[in-house]
Amino acid sequence: MKKHNFSAGPCILPQEVFQQSSQAILDFNGIGLSILEISHRSKDFVQVMEEARAIIKRLMNLNDDYEVLFLGGGASLQFAMVPFNLMPLQNGEAAYLDTGTWAAGAIKEAKKLGKVNVVASSKEAQYSFIPKDYTVGKENAYFHCTSNNTIYGTQMHHFPKVDTLMVCDMSSDIFSCQRDYSQFDLIYAGAQKNMGPAGVAVVVVKKDILGKTGRDIPSYLDYVQHIHKESMYNTPPVFSVYATLLTLQHLEKNGGVAAVEKLNKAKAQLLYNEIDRNPLFEGFAQKEDRSMMNVSFYLTDDSKKEAFDNAWKEANISGLNGHRSLGGYRASLYNALPLESVEVLVNVMQSI
Ligand SMILES: *Cc1c(COP(=O)(O)O)cnc(C)c1O
Repeated sequence: MKKHNFSAGPCILPQEVFQQSSQAILDFNGIGLSILEISHRSKDFVQVMEEARAIIKRLMNLNDDYEVLFLGGGASLQFAMVPFNLMPLQNGEAAYLDTGTWAAGAIKEAKKLGKVNVVASSKEAQYSFIPKDYTVGKENAYFHCTSNNTIYGTQMHHFPKVDTLMVCDMSSDIFSCQRDYSQFDLIYAGAQKNMGPAGVAVVVVKKDILGKTGRDIPSYLDYVQHIHKESMYNTPPVFSVYATLLTLQHLEKNGGVAAVEKLNKAKAQLLYNEIDRNPLFEGFAQKEDRSMMNVSFYLTDDSKKEAFDNAWKEANISGLNGHRSLGGYRASLYNALPLESVEVLVNVMQSI
């Protein structure tokens, strides 16, 4: 029996996608070859790449000022690619909002290429909230933020208006809720949190912001090169791109982001209500910044740990342990997780 998968990433994807993609491994599009053994420049795969780029733009409601790229290296490579492409060589400065381990990782890479101004940080409070009181000065080439902090379970429900370029790491909440994507100049996301399997990151970038830093950028790190080659600068992670396309097609077919946002809200509300109601549990994140995707919580009574752990395992639940840096529990409620799985978890929480 399929488990209730609350894993933080790689994560649950629609069952239909597992079926379709395994079929493509055996025989892709009925061409008598596996998707794993055809050229990435073949007509069939080029079409996959074109559709994958188009569907991202459609779901984000973006015009042709933007380009979509599928790149290897995960979101972590984007921590470096963003400053390579946007931080001016001469006296470059950029503003970063420090909301967690991933944001800190992005800051670390940017510091190698210019001056980083951390405009606010919730590190002292173990990243349990999203700082809101800060300004971003014009001396910064761009402002970088992380829309959802996977480990702590905090999420930006509002984005600041800034006079600089706006860059966002949306790895763990992309396509989970409706957003005005046109407020961003560059968006990136590792696929494996809400969009597809590991191995590929999506980058959405406004073309006219590129090529202005005065840097001689190594080719693979240069967005302009990837745009020019239509995400085929080198052999792309073909299977990950294909499975991502299937996941997004599934999303579009089932009512798009608006429909899944409704479902995600219902799941999050059900679980947070139980955490707030049940004296045996307490949430980690400050309430107003709670994430709809990742719910970090603790038991208030350690003597119940064994009973709780046994109960959720018996209920066929998987992936509920908290991140090693926080301990406790974390339930990730990504798009493909059905409401029923949250109902099972809540029942277990009520049973101990
Ligand atoms: C997981 C995660 C990353 C790192 O992603 P990789 O694809 O493993 O490099 C970066 N940012 C956020 C917000 C994440 O959740």
